[in-house]
Amino acid sequence: MPESSPETMDEREAPFHTPLLVIGAGPYGLATAARAKRAGIEQLVVGKPMAFWHESMPTGMFLRSGPDWHLDAAGEHTLIAYLKERGIDPLEVSPLPVGLFIDYAEWFQKKSGVEVLPDLVRKLSKPDGHFEATLESGRRVTASTVVAAPGIIHFAVIPEWVEQCLSPERWSHTNHLVRFDKFRQKRCLIIGGRQSAFEWGALLADEGAEEIHIVYRHDSPAFSASEWSFVDELMDLTLTVPGWFHNLPAGEREAIARRFWAEGRLKLEPWLTPRLDKPSVHRWPHASVAACREIPGGEIEVGLSNGTRLAVHYVILATGYKVDMTQVPYLVGVIDRLKLADGFPILDEHFQSSLEGLFITGFPATRDFGPFFGFVRGCPVAATLITASLTKVLNQTQV
Ligand SMILES: Cc1cc2nc3c(=O)[nH]c(=O)nc-3n(C[C@H](O)[C@H](O)[C@H](O)COP(=O)(O)OP(=O)(O)OC[C@H]3O[C@@H](n4cnc5c(N)ncnc54)[C@H](O)[C@@H]3O)c2cc1C
Repeated sequence: MPESSPETMDEREAPFHTPLLVIGAGPYGLATAARAKRAGIEQLVVGKPMAFWHESMPTGMFLRSGPDWHLDAAGEHTLIAYLKERGIDPLEVSPLPVGLFIDYAEWFQKKSGVEVLPDLVRKLSKPDGHFEATLESGRRVTASTVVAAPGIIHFAVIPEWVEQCLSPERWSHTNHLVRFDKFRQKRCLIIGGRQSAFEWGALLADEGAEEIHIVYRHDSPAFSASEWSFVDELMDLTLTVPGWFHNLPAGEREAIARRFWAEGRLKLEPWLTPRLDKPSVHRWPHASVAACREIPGGEIEVGLSNGTRLAVHYVILATGYKVDMTQVPYLVGVIDRLKLADGFPILDEHFQSSLEGLFITGFPATRDFGPFFGFVRGCPVAATLITASLTKVLNQTQV
């Protein structure tokens, strides 16, 4: 932290100024901060390091990505390098436990010299040429440029019937459900049929839930290993051909999205199979919830579209995420100046939004850069492209 940093600042003092404010300290925020630091760009990173991974992923979760997906645009502080330094054979940690990736991110942050102010941005505005951010602590920051890495937490999909039929203590989206001990001997309904639905089902089964019903509209996905090597070439193209994905004919973009869908959504990790092979786990493909009501005694009566009736104690939504930038609370002061398309920000070839100096990375960038930017694989590429543009913008403006 520099000498006159926000940490030492009184909120009544003049705002702290930084050339670059990074909002978010998950994989995308950390990767970009590290790359920008290497390029000599002074910065302030605000966020709770890897908060989504600590708070919204269960400790018993495993990653779908392998050890080759990492955060370092320079290719030095990779996950493989971390495992090597710790004397861990990558084959011994396949699939990767989520805790190991969190440890890697902490190591990466230290090695890269990225410092994070563990605060949150309450509001971002741009009243004149500079950005102004008010933090939850009341501190104020001004910045010439901003990188927003909001992740996915604000974009959880909640089907309409859930809030109409159920009181808040009877349901959760998976991003708010990471402990399973209270479901021992309980009956649960999981809505959704992709990896999260089945992994949460396996975690409930491990914990001794009495019944787990997994309900989904489509065929049952196949339990077979995903093959991600095709993404490497696409990442290289993103780096070398400006606007490559965005400028592809619609049919080619859709073909890539379909391939991604086939690997990521139509397949489930085979290591889940034995954990789901239990009498307590019931799968309901080609079905949806047709009726639902709370009944006296603490149960929920559910009617499925196939005529089945269930009585459960709790409903879990593994219903995924859909980008809607109006849901990112700290953007309220600038949202009117952001050009959006179907909820996504419209970005230039370097992740810059329509509000000059504001870059948006990670999941919200998937419309313009491709589905890989919803995953760690895109971090080094996004960090490289953003830093190249930041360098230009900061050289042109008086910081
Ligand atoms: C169940 C599940 C499993 C997944 N498995 C994988 C996997 O195996 N491999 C993979 O590559 N990806 C996986 N992902 C996707 C992964 O979560 C994302 O790739 C990654 O977290 C995106 O990083 P991010 O930095 O954009 O956002 P996040 O990790 O969500 O980080 C957001 C950051 O923003 C900060 N923040 C929030 N609000 C504010 C604020 N107001 N002010 C300042 N900071 C703020 C938070 O503190 C946090 O630091 C999985 C996701 C889920 C839900």
